[in-house]
Amino acid sequence: VQETPAALIAAAEAHSAHNYHPLPVVLSSGRGAWVTDVTGRRYLDLLAGYSALNFGHGHPRLIAEAKAQLTRLTLTSRAFHHERFAPFVTELAELCGKDMVLPMNTGAEAVETALKTARKWGYRVRGVPADRARIVVAADNFHGRTTTLVGFSTDPDAYADHGPFTPGFTVVPFGDLAAMEAALADESEGEVVAVLLEPIQGEAGVVVPPAGYLPGVRRLTAERGVLLMADEIQSGLGRTGRTFACEHESVVPDVYVLGKALGGGVLPVSAVVASSEVLGVQRPGEHGSTFGGNPLACAVGLEVVTMLREGEIQARSARLGERLHEELGKLVGEGVLTEVRGRGLWAGLDLAPGLGTGREVATRLLERGLLVKDTHGSTLRIAPPLVIEEEDLEWALAQLREVLVS
Ligand code: PLP
Repeated sequence: VQETPAALIAAAEAHSAHNYHPLPVVLSSGRGAWVTDVTGRRYLDLLAGYSALNFGHGHPRLIAEAKAQLTRLTLTSRAFHHERFAPFVTELAELCGKDMVLPMNTGAEAVETALKTARKWGYRVRGVPADRARIVVAADNFHGRTTTLVGFSTDPDAYADHGPFTPGFTVVPFGDLAAMEAALADESEGEVVAVLLEPIQGEAGVVVPPAGYLPGVRRLTAERGVLLMADEIQSGLGRTGRTFACEHESVVPDVYVLGKALGGGVLPVSAVVASSEVLGVQRPGEHGSTFGGNPLACAVGLEVVTMLREGEIQARSARLGERLHEELGKLVGEGVLTEVRGRGLWAGLDLAPGLGTGREVATRLLERGLLVKDTHGSTLRIAPPLVIEEEDLEWALAQLREVLVS
């Protein structure tokens, strides 16, 4: 394969499944919020690996930990203990205010782990009759791509032609407390053991529920002895200006589902974090993963947790996020955006009709050196690495303004 962008893109098209439609840029290196393509052109990354790169590309502390561990020990499987495991799970549990962690690799695996754990908790702790456990999820959710997870997706692109699906899920509109209350009370098709929600729906277009919704769900689930499971895979670990998006509404879920930035953009690291009453239901041989909790993952994950406990990245996201939303708000005022949603350095922008599709605008931004991804036709997502320099954010906002207003 020749190493020109066109040749590399053509070869990728010819020899990889077309389950993605990447923008026409071929990247070769990255540092902080900037990446460079194979021709040497630089771009500002405003997607950050769908929030896996909260700490930016090649963060020196994460790379140092990874390199040191790489030459020491990378994999043991969980058949044996290794020295990096205990520090990681201890510190991560503490960050979450919980006492147990079950490490996995990808986000989808962690969500699956949470669902399996909730069902088992329902049968073994709450005494739900066999095969009667139900889990309530929200419409427009995105929790990953496994058969079970797409089975309760409401997006035809995600679920079409992948059935038959796992039963035992009830879908309610996101942000509608009355619908949630009714779903929890309805025992016609089984007893609800858990509610699984993204506190802010990422793939749906950074959708923030109405104020009071999350606390309302917390109250209802607590009253009924139902687990509240927060999928903070995309919203968590600093993205919204807090460690967890739930914190904005002072909500403490029973279960945190974490991924993406937990691996520092270096390797896949995910986890379910909960009390020992909940995760204690998992016994030897009942669940696992060859790579889950491997030494390399624990080394990088521990440094991520250490940085989060220092709190700087969250403060930075909150401060720069205010600037981001202030400027985006002006673009709504000027009529080029119909709505902006989000918190911290995270925004979903709905383009006004006539400005072109999200993909067309993303392509124009690419020409100006900005990497942005569209979603659902006319929505753009902005989620830069949280280490982005203030002047780079200002530059990005100026470019965005020129593309949208001109
Ligand atoms: N949950 C949420 C909220 C996500 O945003 C994603 C990925 O975008 C996932 C789960 C799935 O994570 P992964 O792609 O690592 O399986």
